[in-house]
Amino acid sequence: MHGSEEPATLALDVLSGDVAGALGENGWVPELPEVQALVDFLRERTDGLAIVGVELGSVSVLKTFNPPPTSLHGLPISTVSRHGKFLDIEAQGLHLVFHLARAGWLRWSDALAATTIRPGKSPIALRCRLSDGSGFDLTEAGTRKSLAAYIVSDPALVPGIARLGPDPMAADFTAADFAALLKGHRTQLKGLLKDQSFLAGVGNAYSDEVLHVARLSPFALASSLDEEQTKRLYAALRDTLAGAVRAASGKPAQDLKDAKRAGMRVHGRTGQACPVCGDVVREVSFADSSLQYCATCQTGGKPLADRRMSRLLK
Ligand SMILES: [Zn+2]
Repeated sequence: MHGSEEPATLALDVLSGDVAGALGENGWVPELPEVQALVDFLRERTDGLAIVGVELGSVSVLKTFNPPPTSLHGLPISTVSRHGKFLDIEAQGLHLVFHLARAGWLRWSDALAATTIRPGKSPIALRCRLSDGSGFDLTEAGTRKSLAAYIVSDPALVPGIARLGPDPMAADFTAADFAALLKGHRTQLKGLLKDQSFLAGVGNAYSDEVLHVARLSPFALASSLDEEQTKRLYAALRDTLAGAVRAASGKPAQDLKDAKRAGMRVHGRTGQACPVCGDVVREVSFADSSLQYCATCQTGGKPLADRRMSRLLK
């Protein structure tokens, strides 16, 4: 490590994608609970500090042109918050917003390297320096680059934020609100829960978990749920996310990652035993993702059709 450009980088790999980029599924893709943990962490660490530098290692990561990164220089940070899976660092009315996507991560450093990063071959997409010498880097593994940053005067100017549905963890998001939302949708629950314009912050992992807790089929149509099922789904959504936020909050890097995996009942556990009934956890695969579920708990014992599995069995 001698002569490294990143000497005192005590990497707090808060949202380490490690190889998760490739993994997508069983890997480590940050969703609402992990992003919330990161918000809590950044809020504490940046308290009383100002932004003194925003450097880009990749031009394409910044999706806005005006105001420029230099407009943030010297501004004290007022607050750190979350919109769905977007993080928002506000400094005097300007917002540095970013979305880690599938393989992005944030590496905190109490003492950032002095080297200025420039667009080019750096694995660092964006570096943010703070007034006490600390700061963070945003990096992204893999070749499919989807990490995105924005500098805006209003977070609603970020298209992905403008489109967001309600936050399922909001104090005022009631069972009645949820029931009303579901009613208009003749789509399958799995896809709907992941749809950010329906609900903000739930992704592939927690949608599997919520449906398992609610004992509902991933393919059930939203509009077909009766009152009792709707209530069950709402309770499962809130309880699962609240539990995950509690488990993630205050945890450093490695722990956070393991905590997410350890907390999963069915997601990423194909072939293992369902913790509720002992049946085997099954999978349905799609071109770009897969879902896991328990047939006994969720689909009346009937396995769901899986294209890949049937192809293999031919
Ligand atoms: Zn089960």
